[in-house]
Amino acid sequence: LVYSDSNPLKRVLHADATLDSDGQPIRKKKVVVLGSGWSGYSFLNYLNNPNYDVQVVSPRNFFLFTPLLPSVTNGTVEARSIVEPIRGLMRKKGFEYKEAECVKIDASNKKLHCRSKEGSSLKGTTEFDMDYDILVIAVGAKPNTFNTPGVEEHAYFLKEAEDALNIRHSVIDCFERASLPNLTEEERKKILHFVVVGGGPTGVEFSAELHDFLVQDVAKIYPKVQEFTRITLLEAGDHILNMFDKRITAFAEEKFQRDGIDLKTGSMVVGVTADEISTKERETGKIVSEPYGMVVWSTGIGSRPVIRDFMQQIGQGQRRVLATDEWLRVEGCEDVYALGDTATINQRRVMEDIAAIFSKADKGNTGTLNKKDFNGVVKDICQRYPQVELYLKKNKLKNIAHLLESANGEDTQVNIENFKQALSEVDSQMKNLPATAQVASQQGKYLAKCFNKMEKCEKKPEGPLRFRGEGRHRFQPFRYRHFGSFAPLGGEQTAAELPGDWVSIGHSSQWLWYSVYASKLVSWRTRMLVISDWTRRFVFGRDSSS
Ligand code: FAD
Ligand code: MG
Ligand code: MG
Ligand code: MG
Ligand code: MG
Repeated sequence: LVYSDSNPLKRVLHADATLDSDGQPIRKKKVVVLGSGWSGYSFLNYLNNPNYDVQVVSPRNFFLFTPLLPSVTNGTVEARSIVEPIRGLMRKKGFEYKEAECVKIDASNKKLHCRSKEGSSLKGTTEFDMDYDILVIAVGAKPNTFNTPGVEEHAYFLKEAEDALNIRHSVIDCFERASLPNLTEEERKKILHFVVVGGGPTGVEFSAELHDFLVQDVAKIYPKVQEFTRITLLEAGDHILNMFDKRITAFAEEKFQRDGIDLKTGSMVVGVTADEISTKERETGKIVSEPYGMVVWSTGIGSRPVIRDFMQQIGQGQRRVLATDEWLRVEGCEDVYALGDTATINQRRVMEDIAAIFSKADKGNTGTLNKKDFNGVVKDICQRYPQVELYLKKNKLKNIAHLLESANGEDTQVNIENFKQALSEVDSQMKNLPATAQVASQQGKYLAKCFNKMEKCEKKPEGPLRFRGEGRHRFQPFRYRHFGSFAPLGGEQTAAELPGDWVSIGHSSQWLWYSVYASKLVSWRTRMLVISDWTRRFVFGRDSSS
């Protein structure tokens, strides 16, 4: 207990807030947050509960605005402009920060083992233990290599700020090297062969940024070697951007073709050596090796080792990704929450709870339901099981009564079997949320709001359905709101997919993209920096020093 003043009256007043009814000091609950990325930063930003002692552990003392990371690889935007130091937020909120990595979570003893990172000027690392009352895991994910040999050693990833800078230096090094005398044409071609693996949003955007750089800047700076450059984009599936609307995929594929980006779908990388990348063609099963100058690997994400180990401890060892319930509580252990790319939400199936839902609606215990019985629970069912709403929307049905009618004809007296039958297709609408900044930041905000009213809601929500009128203070489960996705395709063109099946491609969406991201940047400082980077690029072109 710290007294701010020696005046005894003030002392009493001041102490009151931190003493319980027996005059014992109240120990604040210690909340430890792992990670300062999209989900962690958003959680910390919205958390306003003086009853918690908040400690943050993250190996990076900044938040990174990842959507603009591909623009760092060619110097359109500076890395400095898209990071936001977290010390400012820590000071404002009175939170404590430790620059370290959690290497072990011991859930049964509520302990964490942490290690400082090895700095360039500091030799060796420091290790320490921490305990927690509540743990919030927001450590994100790591690039997934699918254990493809040689990837860790020879390929570049695009995940962190350093990665983007390394790529930028390496691209320019390739051009400088290819410009040296005494090289054969073959050698120059090899050095200037850029291979991008993975046709998801990041791989596509990077290819587009690289292409812009080659066309807009390299042509002027390295005119002698420009003819030797080539970009190959390898994708194991049939199409690039397969999570987007078909129109966007088609547009992107055509644009890349026109731009001369060598797009190879149906080719899976099976190995990378220092000089060659080998792919297996799906149709022929043939293995083809090609020389390259640089490989960028962007095929998706996997769990970090510390999370894999934690999953083993809590009986989730068989799962691919850490599972939480819809309140973001990790399944199989107490007082641990997980958000963002680290975890997926295990959504409840209607079919698992069908008997409970039925009996909740069947108030008179008659064994049959009529329209009136439903009035009381329909809203709760849709709240609790969002797949029901999606299903109704997809089949153009107004409500569950309509669904029952369409399944059972005019007779709306349904028993449990009819009920099951009518709802049997509903669960097919369940989808995992994508691993995006949009999801991560919404989860951070959601959890902070729950924590802010934690005292009111000490009783945690359980069970498949909430009763009407009950638990007004209980938390709603997490619900994601999709505001649209953008896929920048280079040449100042961006494809946008907005809610309501709205697709827009072209220069206007490029400006929409700029303004959406400029307005989403966390502070005025970063906003100013990015806008001035963009302006500088328009006026002077990109910087090509490495
Ligand atoms: P992260 O943001 O990755 O944060 C993880 C944090 O945990 C980091 O601070 C990290 O340093 C820290 N950490 C790591 N290990 C430990 C440890 N052991 N202990 C403690 N802390 C640890 N999404 C979009 O919605 N739109 C986009 O346009 C978009 N573009 C993207 C472009 C690129 C190049 C990339 C890589 C991603 C992009 N994403 C985009 C995806 C988005 O960045 C992620 O979904 C989001 O970062 C997930 O947030 P997170 O909090 O789970 O993880
Ligand atoms: Mg995070
Ligand atoms: Mg981040
Ligand atoms: Mg991430
Ligand atoms: Mg997730």
